[in-house]
Amino acid sequence: MADSPLPRIAIVVPCYNEEQALPISSMEMLSLIDEMSASGLIAPDSYVLCSNDGSKDRTWEVIEELHSKDDRIKGICLAHNRGHQNALLAGLMAVMDNCDAAISIDADLQDDPSAMIEMVKKFRDGCEIVYGVRSSRETDTWFKRTTAHGFYSFQNAMGLETIYDHADYRLMSNRALHLLSEYGESNLFLRGIIPQIGLSCDVVRYARNPRVAGESKYPLSKMLSFSIDGITSFSARPMRWIFMTGLTLLIIDILVGIYVVIALLSGTAIGGWASIMLSVWFLGSLTLISIGIVGEYIGKIFTEVKHRPRFAVMKQLW
Ligand code: UDP
Ligand code: MG
Repeated sequence: MADSPLPRIAIVVPCYNEEQALPISSMEMLSLIDEMSASGLIAPDSYVLCSNDGSKDRTWEVIEELHSKDDRIKGICLAHNRGHQNALLAGLMAVMDNCDAAISIDADLQDDPSAMIEMVKKFRDGCEIVYGVRSSRETDTWFKRTTAHGFYSFQNAMGLETIYDHADYRLMSNRALHLLSEYGESNLFLRGIIPQIGLSCDVVRYARNPRVAGESKYPLSKMLSFSIDGITSFSARPMRWIFMTGLTLLIIDILVGIYVVIALLSGTAIGGWASIMLSVWFLGSLTLISIGIVGEYIGKIFTEVKHRPRFAVMKQLW
């Protein structure tokens, strides 16, 4: 593709309370753009778009300052905090008509920015989606690493297919972005949707670094609800499990029934307080869990049928 014009790349960065990390990470990304355009890999007018997710600190002021110094740093500011996935989608939709490919990356430089070079090379070789995959997570705490891996395995067991150890660090071609824009769901789980788009894809591996500044906005509680959102947005397997459990219990019930009748007829039936207590508690909790899972899906239907806008862009720096 030596004769074709160089691709214009947009780096999309969702930011929530990142006043400390953003000045460092945006500079790093600009120098990477310089490096890539100097080596003839991308167009010099490639840029960084910061999507401010209703931050409570000075993140937006920081973006304005950075933009005034170098207009290759652009920004959108969401009206209020809508979460990482929506902030990222807002950013991707904002750059959709102004780039040949977009690379999404977090503001904290935990995902090695230099992996973008490999991503762009693969894009230029014809790949439409390039996933950044963590080759090691040694710098994450043991707890974060173990819970994250637990979630991947749990999600796969529940029928949600995602790329293992890939978060939201990825390159998407302009065509992939337009296809993504067709997905109208409100419960957004990009890691599940993007593999469904189905264009040619590849993987780039990189080592995960510690946060450059600030602290994680993803505690265990948020990770857990993110994972449940992912599973219930993509898979009906939990409902199938309720059905299978019901069937299994029915078979056991028949055996128990036969046993009870035999015990009654032979006159050996005695008041079984323990067994009654156990079954009451067991069936009670099972019923509650089942209702809970069904409730998850009803909750999804509830929010999807409203077709509410997923974000509102308040201000724009372009
Ligand atoms: N983020 C966001 N909205 C939120 C929470 C996080 O836009 O409500 C951004 C955050 O600024 C960062 C990225 O999402 O750029 C990932 O968050 P973080 O690094 O805190 O998550 P972790 O890497 O610890 O899982
Ligand atoms: Mg992070």
